Amino acid sequence: MEATKTIIIGSGPAGYTAAIYAGRADLKPILYSGMQPGGQLTTTTDVENFPGYPQGVDGNQMMMDLRDQASRFGADIRDGAIVKADFSSQPYQFTDDRGNVIAADTCIIATGASAKYLGLPDEEKYRGQGVSACATCDGFFYRKRTVAVVGGGDTACEEAMYLASLAKKVYMIVRKPYLRATEIMKERVSNKENIEILYETNTLGLFGDDGVQGAHLVYRKGEADEKEYDLPIDGFFLAIGHNPNTEIFKGAIDMDEKGFIITQGNSPKTNIEGVFAAGDCADPIYRQGIVAAGAGAKAAIEADRYLQTKG
Ligand code: NDP
Repeated sequence: MEATKTIIIGSGPAGYTAAIYAGRADLKPILYSGMQPGGQLTTTTDVENFPGYPQGVDGNQMMMDLRDQASRFGADIRDGAIVKADFSSQPYQFTDDRGNVIAADTCIIATGASAKYLGLPDEEKYRGQGVSACATCDGFFYRKRTVAVVGGGDTACEEAMYLASLAKKVYMIVRKPYLRATEIMKERVSNKENIEILYETNTLGLFGDDGVQGAHLVYRKGEADEKEYDLPIDGFFLAIGHNPNTEIFKGAIDMDEKGFIITQGNSPKTNIEGVFAAGDCADPIYRQGIVAAGAGAKAAIEADRYLQTKG
């Protein structure tokens, strides 16, 4: 069986940064890229808020740069996913999707999270062309334009507030007759003059020749006063929640009720020694590339310290 000091699972900013640090600490990490090599940033266009790129950078390019940087320091970067993790005895054992088993003294879980989408074919069609699940990443492109945010939770309200500071008009498309968000967020969006909340409204589809130009909506579907109509918009933002990609660790690693890995205090330590978590899989709050990268660095430093302590 193949053995390594450190296995890193995931190839977003957290995974690659962990690989850079672990590589430089001579841990010779093996990194599995997972189902979406490069992670969520490969689904956006330009990344303009990652420090070090004054002109912004294409999300795919940035992730390729991080990958190259990790390779330069000796990370063994592999395509494919880890499908099974066994933490019952040390070294821990990991099985990839081709059936290879790797024994590792330490593990950095950086499997990220996936934004939830409504499941409409048009979301795929216009992905990166008006459809986004990250206002902080893409809001800037909608300055003085009209956008819609789907969802009625705190994330949707935060995204709507952020977008309202840039866009001319923000619609919130909320399926219930009320917002689920906390009182303070409800108050903020209700008082913001360029936010309009469309309650009891669902999205049927999107339209546009060259990117999103509008949404087909339905008001009070199935009721006597049901009404279908088209809403002209330039951007369609999903804010209906994120799912952490932590399924394979269930039962072994402590998680909250939504599946986000629980780390100890300000550290990336999990409930299992030598196992660390970094990035969106352990972060239901910030969900930013730069924050994930920082967490990846912390995880690799902790993995190195752990190995040194163990001798
Ligand atoms: P939530 O689960 O709280 O809200 C999701 C929203 O999306 C709800 O309004 C839900 O509608 C709606 N929704 C879900 N699925 C669909 C669908 N298929 N079609 C239409 N609408 C849909 O998720 P959030 O990401 O907003 O928040 C997650 C957690 O993080 C919460 O506990 C929140 O309080 C917290 N949070 C805290 C923040 C802060 O404190 N600053 C900031 C952001 C999040 P419905 O209500 O009908 O189910």
